[in-house]
Parts: sequence; C-alpha cells; structure tokens
Amino acid sequence: MSLEQQYTAILSQIGEDVTREGLVDTPKRAAKAMQYLCRGYQQTLEEVTNGALFSSDNSEMVLVKNIELYSLCEHHMLPFIGKAHVAYLPNGKVLGLSKVARIVDMYARRLQIQENLTRQIAEAVQQITDAAGVAVVIEAQHMCMMMRGVEKQNSSMVTSVMLGAFRENVATRAEFLGLVNK
Ligand SMILES: [Zn+2]
Repeated sequence: MSLEQQYTAILSQIGEDVTREGLVDTPKRAAKAMQYLCRGYQQTLEEVTNGALFSSDNSEMVLVKNIELYSLCEHHMLPFIGKAHVAYLPNGKVLGLSKVARIVDMYARRLQIQENLTRQIAEAVQQITDAAGVAVVIEAQHMCMMMRGVEKQNSSMVTSVMLGAFRENVATRAEFLGLVNK
C-alpha cells in the first residue's frame, strides 16, 4: 500500500468521510509532507557536508548558535521544535558554516528523541572535522507534551553532549555555556 493510501485509511479510521471535498487531496499532501519531514533518511553525512572542509590554523572555538530545529518524536510522530547550539574546537580543519546547520537538519529530519539527536549531531561534527572537542546543546518544545498527555505548554527540554575538550576542560565548557546563554 502506498503512503497516500495509508493516509486515506488513517482518515477513515479516525472517523472522517474521506470523500468530502476538503479531504480529496489530503492523503496525497500528507504523504508528501511526511516524506519531506523525514527526508534525512535519504541523506548521508558525506553528501550534506559535500567537501566543505577547509584547512585553518585557528584553534579557537567556533560556535553556531540558534540553529532552528524541526523534528518528529519517534514515540508519537509529533513535532518537536527548538534551537540547536553547536560548537567545536578546530584541529587543523574548519567546516563551512552552513554545513553545521545542514548536519543538524539531516538528523532532525528523521524520527528522533532529543537525546539521541543531540549525540548524533555532536558525533557527526567530531567525525567530519576531527575537532579537539565538540559541544551541542538543544532546547526544544515537544508537541506530544503540549497537545496531549500532561498538556504542559511552557516546558522545554534541554539536552547537551560534550565531547573531547568540552568534556575534560571545565573552563572550555564554561566558555561555551556562557556564550550560549548570553
Ligand atoms: Zn513524543
């Protein structure tokens, strides 16, 4: 059964009249939207970074703040939405800035839990740049908490992963967190 046919089945199961005018093209649109929201499965790290790695003597922290993030939780397939902050300490190589955002997107556009998403981004940046350290913080609001369940509208979840120098060196970690919270 195609994704489109399965959406027709879902509409019918929730009590809708699938023949009414407003819903005629809904299964097709919903299938397209879901494929878009999950397009990260079709991408690889090599492809999204596309060789945008440059030699550099800079060993100071590179921080990309407030990267918008849209994902779907793997438990309810409902959105979680927030921001990612990604930092690394270059070790001879720097990554094109937009590529950091593309790495975030690739993993966000798969079914996720926030904890795993945070780790996958950190490990990908580490793998690609061979950095001396990588730090990732994600703050997000989860529709599965806001629209259902406990219906808590104002709670957000914060997760972080620190690798290398960010894990071992208190001053480096403090510098990162200071910049993120500014
Ligand atoms: Zn959920």
